Amino acid sequence: MKGIGVSPGISIGKAFLLQKKKAALTCILLTTPEEIAAAVEQFDDAITNSVNEIEAIKSNTLSDEDLAILETQIELLSDPEIRDGVVEKIEIEYKNPNDALLEVVDVFVQLFENMDDEYMRARAVDIRDIGNRILKNLNGQTSGNQVFEPDTIIIAEDLSPSDTITMDVSRVTGFATQMGSKTSHAAIIAKSKGIPAVVGCGADLISIKNNDVIILDGSQGLVLINPGQELIDEYTAKRNAYRQHAETLKALRDEPAVTTDGMQVMLSANISGAEDLEDVFDNGGESVGLLRTELLFMNRDNFPTEDEQFEFYKKAALQAKGKPVIVRTIDIGGDKQLPYFNLPAELNPFLGYRAIRICLDRKDLFITQLKAILRASVFGDLKIMFPMISNIQEIRSAKSILGEAKAELLSESISFNPAMKVGIMIEIPSAAITADLLAKEVDFFSIGTNDLCQYTLAVDRMNEQITHLYDPFNPGVLRLISFVIEQGEKHGIHVGMCGEMASDPLATLLLLGMGLKEFSMSAASIPAIKSIIINNSELKAKQIYKNVMEMDSSEDILGYLKGITADE
Ligand code: PEP
Ligand code: MG
Repeated sequence: MKGIGVSPGISIGKAFLLQKKKAALTCILLTTPEEIAAAVEQFDDAITNSVNEIEAIKSNTLSDEDLAILETQIELLSDPEIRDGVVEKIEIEYKNPNDALLEVVDVFVQLFENMDDEYMRARAVDIRDIGNRILKNLNGQTSGNQVFEPDTIIIAEDLSPSDTITMDVSRVTGFATQMGSKTSHAAIIAKSKGIPAVVGCGADLISIKNNDVIILDGSQGLVLINPGQELIDEYTAKRNAYRQHAETLKALRDEPAVTTDGMQVMLSANISGAEDLEDVFDNGGESVGLLRTELLFMNRDNFPTEDEQFEFYKKAALQAKGKPVIVRTIDIGGDKQLPYFNLPAELNPFLGYRAIRICLDRKDLFITQLKAILRASVFGDLKIMFPMISNIQEIRSAKSILGEAKAELLSESISFNPAMKVGIMIEIPSAAITADLLAKEVDFFSIGTNDLCQYTLAVDRMNEQITHLYDPFNPGVLRLISFVIEQGEKHGIHVGMCGEMASDPLATLLLLGMGLKEFSMSAASIPAIKSIIINNSELKAKQIYKNVMEMDSSEDILGYLKGITADE
């Protein structure tokens, strides 16, 4: 069965079907004022007991993530909106507390489930969870923990944060659920507890029976049911290799990314929102080299308001805990379309109305985003970056609009960081070739090899028929990259790389030899790149760079780089 792998690793064990009794309405109405007063008191007691239960779980909880979830649940329990809603139903509609609570919880669950934001949708589970806890207390039941056999894999429709936080991982070695998403709390907790988990498997999951043998592959999102011995042997070997590899890389987490001869490199991450940051720090990432803001604009019916955007950037600034975050202004167009923006179809969308070109044309949209980023800049170390720059005039225009955004905030007496650093993506060949000129206008460059490669080689990055021509190791592409790094250094501005090439282990030493100071990539790629950096010297990297620049084809270059990697 295939689902969404939300916590990596492999487990082999026996299935336990966790089935929950559905709470039901009793439809019994209260009749006397005494009954009503007693019902309110009973409900308040149930809340107090529920808070006490969560406090008790908190005192046995070690991870920050689990603590944060429990804190949120206590906040929700203390939220007057839920209590007032229930008390109103008791006092005005004469509902008994069980029914009043079920109805109020349903309203809140529906409210959250209908939200656009995936993260907020996943919070519906928290409301249901605390609702169930209050209900148990109302009915005089305790929420004692179930004791499982060793090597149990839990199979359930869905798991609440309480189910997952109290899971004894010395016995429960993983879980699979019918429902759930990447941002559900059950997924977050599984990762923090280090047990594999697969969610969103669909209704068929429930065909699994108690004690069926299960292989759970949380990396691939697979649930194998009653596999043969051959598969069990294969996955046992995979599980052991995974554990060993994870241990080795984990040991690198807190090590600085410094070469054997002392060259310090910054390893950063590309993220799409604050919720990715936990993974970044878990993998030893030091900062954010690229916050793609498109996600905030996608999966919705209209442009996010300044306030909505502000909240998004503020959350990222806060959760980065003072580490730098490069926020890239919207890069829509090309392959990223917004259903509500109605961009006309183009013959060559990647050469068309895209990114900064839209922003300079639609100043209203641009200023809104710039003001939101500026407002969030007081909550952390945010930097701003413009994508798809092809000439100096675009930088000057973008900076002038940034100036207007600042002036508007000043006139509204809203604070921002006036010294926020401004950089550009170098992803169009004309920008790379004029890096010496552009360097005078900005504080930093970030090389976007995904686009730089497609534009330099005239190879559409989305066209499967010509993927063999998409070649970041083409000497032309390498010369552009090398020139940008050299010019950045000459003009004293920071140069990073946030295209996929930064996460390619074959390219690491070559880029290091060119003098690249920051490599930004998906969080999961960081440990492998760090391991190359700390096991090699800058001297060796410079020699590799020199040798590569004398070669005339990517076949030779790749052959040479593969030979070096194989030797290690
Ligand atoms: C790039 O072009 O290398 C880049 C990082 O931007 P995107 O992939 O979002 O176009
Ligand atoms: Mg790009």
